[in-house]
Amino acid sequence: MRYLFNNCYMPFINQNKAIYVKDGFIENIVTTPDNRPCHKIIDIQNRIVFSGFADIHMHLDKALIGEKVFNKSGTLKEAIEIMTEYKKKMSKEDIKNRARKALNLSYKQGTRYIRTHVDVDEIIGLKGLEAIIELKEEFKDKLQISIVAFPQEGFVDNLENYKYLEQALIAGADIVGGIPAMEKNAKKHIDMVFKLAKKYDKNIDMHIDETDDPNTLTLKYLAEKTIKEGYQKRVIAGHCCSLAANKLEDIQNILDLVKEAEITIVTLPSTNLYLQGREDLKNFRRGITRVKDLLKKDIVVCVGSDNIRDPFNPFGNGNLLEVGLIAAHGCHMGGLDDLDKIFYMISSIPVTLFEDYEIEEGKKAKFIIIDIDKKYKAIVEQPKIFGYFEKEEFVWTY
Ligand SMILES: [Zn+2]
Repeated sequence: MRYLFNNCYMPFINQNKAIYVKDGFIENIVTTPDNRPCHKIIDIQNRIVFSGFADIHMHLDKALIGEKVFNKSGTLKEAIEIMTEYKKKMSKEDIKNRARKALNLSYKQGTRYIRTHVDVDEIIGLKGLEAIIELKEEFKDKLQISIVAFPQEGFVDNLENYKYLEQALIAGADIVGGIPAMEKNAKKHIDMVFKLAKKYDKNIDMHIDETDDPNTLTLKYLAEKTIKEGYQKRVIAGHCCSLAANKLEDIQNILDLVKEAEITIVTLPSTNLYLQGREDLKNFRRGITRVKDLLKKDIVVCVGSDNIRDPFNPFGNGNLLEVGLIAAHGCHMGGLDDLDKIFYMISSIPVTLFEDYEIEEGKKAKFIIIDIDKKYKAIVEQPKIFGYFEKEEFVWTY
């Protein structure tokens, strides 16, 4: 069922507030509904209204490749090898078709903000970037997309790849990516990423220490460099798995540095649970970073989906509530407070890294309603989307 509303008030009323929408804009948010004439009143009872989920770490260019090639060993090493081979024959149309499907999957399940890494190197050139930039335009009324130029193949020993990273920033990538643990000289990789970020005044979002190896802790240097360059609040470190391979007392100094550097940590529980811990002969590790310890330090943590059915992870539905539930299992976070926090880590925390997300008077009416009344219940019960408002209309999804 679909309703169109033009030049009229449409209040969304729940116990706490009434949202009056007129001409597609939020005119008022009041605690008590008044008697103004209304075209249609939608009583949403106690259901949660918010801007939508924000998936802060995806790989749209790789999404759904797993339906074409299969990672037999299931290891990160084979995933990277398969990906490098597949990239040689990847066309822009292939990338667009798969990424479009992944975007639709995410959108249907309430995601309205996506940050995606896109490979840029001498194998794929800027094809992936061009494909995602075109999709960013195609989906602009539905989803906000920001793009990280991602040097998956490294560049310290191949400066051709570094040139592509720079070209990607000139061509429209929003953020500089990195993956220092891939390189023999990880510090140089981090230094070179900062050099480009500063030259083009871009934020940084790196894949950091996606390994069980306790000795791989490039996060420490990343934090030191962030402080030295005055890049606080501008850096994200994704994965950080090796923090969990160390005793807490041995990495306290790194957590202190991360806090001082105001680095946001993004955990990717589905991919980490799938890829990490494979070499363990017993007591298999989960591979997920120390989320609860990071939160105890007041470090900002977000949860993202990472890979959607590609050589890195055969699973994924673009459903952030499902990812939140996996995080709850994998991070031992089942208390009501913990589950509330996870809800924030897939919505109100990452969304602040995008523009125009506030549900406020005078702003465009753009919000979704989920069929549940409590945030912790959203993680446990996995509710459906009740409806959403965008482009001057309310769409029921029930
Ligand atoms: Zn990733």
